[in-house]
Amino acid sequence: MSIAGGLPKAVERARAAGCDTLQIFTKSSGQWRARPLPDAEIAAFRQACVELNVRPVLAHASYLINLGSSQEALQTRSRAALGEELDRAEALGLLGVVLHPGSYTTTSEAEGLARIAEGIVAVLSDRTDQRTRLLLEHTAGQGTNLGHTFQQLGAIIDTAETRAIQPIGLCLDTCHLVAAGYDLGSDSSYADTMAQLDQHVGLDRVQAIHLNDSKTPLGSRVDRHAHIGSGHVGLGAFRRLLTDPRMHMLPMVLETPKEGSRATAAIEPDPMDLENLRMIRELMNGPTP
Ligand SMILES: [Zn+2]
Repeated sequence: MSIAGGLPKAVERARAAGCDTLQIFTKSSGQWRARPLPDAEIAAFRQACVELNVRPVLAHASYLINLGSSQEALQTRSRAALGEELDRAEALGLLGVVLHPGSYTTTSEAEGLARIAEGIVAVLSDRTDQRTRLLLEHTAGQGTNLGHTFQQLGAIIDTAETRAIQPIGLCLDTCHLVAAGYDLGSDSSYADTMAQLDQHVGLDRVQAIHLNDSKTPLGSRVDRHAHIGSGHVGLGAFRRLLTDPRMHMLPMVLETPKEGSRATAAIEPDPMDLENLRMIRELMNGPTP
């Protein structure tokens, strides 16, 4: 949800759309700079979450952050920015900060993975009392983006956790799973994908799920989100995930396209958000009478 007009507005937007959980950017996603959060806004945000019963809330980290970069300046900037994201999320009482692990650009997969783990350790070591969790997002694997195989995520987490104090969580994205080549299209392929996830990362690490359809097919490694039911994920895949008892307690959020015709400051729900939510709930509970 948009934070236009201040962070508490995002909670109001979530409630107006009938959501009981929420994901926000705590700052502009395409800028390094962040305005400081006034104490009054933090307090109003926390109060809105309680009063409107929208909990837990997730943050998505800025897309500019690349812990895998071999350029020292970008590496330093990325670590500082991730630290700031975690601090803001902690102040706001959020469950986790979702981070795309990073890309290796001009180096190699192995070097990228090592740099990402090192970056995570550096950031978390400065924040040993942190309650907001870092949640690595499984990615579609576009270009040199890492984190699209469960082995890569397992490698980052194993290396980082031997040196950082806090446990590191995982965020799944249905669009990214399919784009990265993990099939959810039948009961047996879904079971196989989850078994692989459990083997290489651990199912108990999954703390959040992004529900998105994919404009591009299985294994395309292209990250294009689509409305639920209109892409290559398939309604059966959503149903399997939504009715999997191992996923029942997890916050799930949509990152589907907005209709775009509304003013950004609007509180009224986006019609496509409502439609996507209706489909998701129907797949979860069966059609409402
Ligand atoms: Zn996502």
